[in-house]
Amino acid sequence: MRGTMLYGPRDVRFEERPDPTIIEPTDALLRISAACVCGSDLWPYRGIDAPGQPTPMGHEYCGIVEEVGSAVKHIKPGQFVVGSFFASDNTCPNCQFGYQSSCMHRELVGGAQAPWLRVPLADGTLVATPSVPSDDLIPSLLTASDVLGTGWFAADAANVKPGSTVVVIGDGAVGLLGVLSARQMGAERIIAMSRNAPRQQLARAFGATDVVAERGDEGVARIMDMTNGLGADSVLECVGTQEAMQQAIHCTRKGGYVSYVGVPHGVELGGEGLFFAHVHLHGGPAPVRRYLPELIDPIWHGKINPGRVFDLQLPLAQVAEGYRAMDERRAIKVLLWP
Ligand SMILES: [Zn+2]
Ligand SMILES: [Zn+2]
Repeated sequence: MRGTMLYGPRDVRFEERPDPTIIEPTDALLRISAACVCGSDLWPYRGIDAPGQPTPMGHEYCGIVEEVGSAVKHIKPGQFVVGSFFASDNTCPNCQFGYQSSCMHRELVGGAQAPWLRVPLADGTLVATPSVPSDDLIPSLLTASDVLGTGWFAADAANVKPGSTVVVIGDGAVGLLGVLSARQMGAERIIAMSRNAPRQQLARAFGATDVVAERGDEGVARIMDMTNGLGADSVLECVGTQEAMQQAIHCTRKGGYVSYVGVPHGVELGGEGLFFAHVHLHGGPAPVRRYLPELIDPIWHGKINPGRVFDLQLPLAQVAEGYRAMDERRAIKVLLWP
């Protein structure tokens, strides 16, 4: 098959790769229905945390099970499945606590920007849909694999409840789907922080009641103005930079909740600032697997349409253009059809 490899900064190639096969008896082999480029793929693409060697890319996936290993009991060939970027057994204590992305046997799933994918720990990792979906459902089902699951975790970890006032920092796909998630959880006021017109529009379509374009201290001042000087109940930090994290902590009310789901780059928190902030902090790599069943259901019944974050769709062979479009912020998120 041909698959996506990152050779170095801004050097993405779609090239001949070995066909994946079943290696462990707990594996499944998927025929990918759609793949996509993630905001987190842009870090190595830009040369930050770049791997030292050519690396297969892609960790968000859905598709049809082609073959399973001899120890796989529940997942069956022919099923349409969605899984998370961390394979998990879904049985160890950490999985039982609901933190499958910290599974004691977790494995990172890589190489999903390709027509075929090997998924370890298939029974614990994959969730089958009720039947094989029509093509129009596939983009939304694909978001459940990461960006919707991560946005949902961001809202859940920030304790969004009916009536909450919520701030979402970050207007990438995760932030936008954090808005959608907060809306689904019944938030009354959702303030999206964005200075990009198409993203502001999508945030409003997903349920944002207000948009704030200011950042940093000015952004904090605007939120304080809008919340009677108190700050928001729940703040979702969906970027991963020092500025975004500081902004999140500073615009949360006393006793409120900050979640953080962007992979941190250069974030450092001082003890004294944390001590006097009086906020709850909860975040990390989203345990997407925990939420898959509850996310697939409303997508399946057309109640939510998170696939709208894909504002550019390309044939998989044009994956390099997909990376360019996201790097240059011409696209929010790029869907790739094999
Ligand atoms: Zn991702
Ligand atoms: Zn586990």
